[in-house]
Amino acid sequence: MLGNLGKNLTKTMKKLAGMTIIDEEVVKEVIKDIQRALIQSDVNIKLVLNLSKTIEDRALNEEPPKGVTAKEHVIKIVYDELVHLLGDKAKEVEIDKKPYKILFVGLQGSGKTTTIGKMGRYLQKKGFNPAIICTDTWRPAAYEQLRQLTESLNLSLYGDPDNQDALDLARKGLNEFKKQDLIIVDTAGRHKEEKDLLDEMEQISAVVEPDEVMLVIDGTIGQQAREQALAFSKTTKIGSIVITKLDGSAKGGGALSAVSEIGAPIKFIGTGEKIEDLEAFDPERFISRLLG
Ligand code: GDP
Repeated sequence: MLGNLGKNLTKTMKKLAGMTIIDEEVVKEVIKDIQRALIQSDVNIKLVLNLSKTIEDRALNEEPPKGVTAKEHVIKIVYDELVHLLGDKAKEVEIDKKPYKILFVGLQGSGKTTTIGKMGRYLQKKGFNPAIICTDTWRPAAYEQLRQLTESLNLSLYGDPDNQDALDLARKGLNEFKKQDLIIVDTAGRHKEEKDLLDEMEQISAVVEPDEVMLVIDGTIGQQAREQALAFSKTTKIGSIVITKLDGSAKGGGALSAVSEIGAPIKFIGTGEKIEDLEAFDPERFISRLLG
């Protein structure tokens, strides 16, 4: 996952672990390696420089706690700061009312439909019975794709390929699924103009009154994820983010670190095309695994 980022960071940590003396020179060398690895993964340069400065300041000025060697302390600092770059603590989906409504937004091709299927399965395994509403009137195949997905998962779907009014579809779907514990609303991912798409998201959000808006972003776009997240966050309050296609994406580190500015946590990552390839995102576990 994430191309060579894990491999490069693991190499750096191994090198650090093999050092006998930890001095300024060693710290700077380690930081250079980390910088190179992060930049290769398309992490924004400003973020990389901030992270480097914090690691350097802490490594050179902080006293290791009692019983911890200087080396262990530097390793811990690197780990902490990488976790911090990805948002610190894991945030769960907290389903605290019925029906809990999740509105899915994201550009076409981001993996939104696939992720809705994965999420339906994930929530089903947690004991919920999610129903899905298709409001994408723009892409004719959207309803059919959802129909096949939901049929194989045994999930309810509301949609009408003959209805071209997304707001009407949302209203009718909500009405149909009033008694359900969980409703997932799919939206269009493309319009003639981006502005039209964003306007529609604003209107749909007003109709659905979602408990959570999940934004799906393609991880292969790297740090451009920030701009995309900002554009969507202007139309509706984004509650959480899913970064897809992290399997094999060389720019995943860039996408994961870029979205922090909009203040919504990354709750899930997509790690493949199959229905099970969705992981609840936990920065601590993620970095532990990445560092090997
Ligand atoms: P939508 O237009 O946003 O609804 O995108 P789709 O759900 O149709 O996905 C677009 C393409 O991305 C499809 O070929 C999916 O199989 C693929 N895809 C979605 N999520 C992932 C992922 O996490 N990993 C990989 N490798 N492919 C994915």
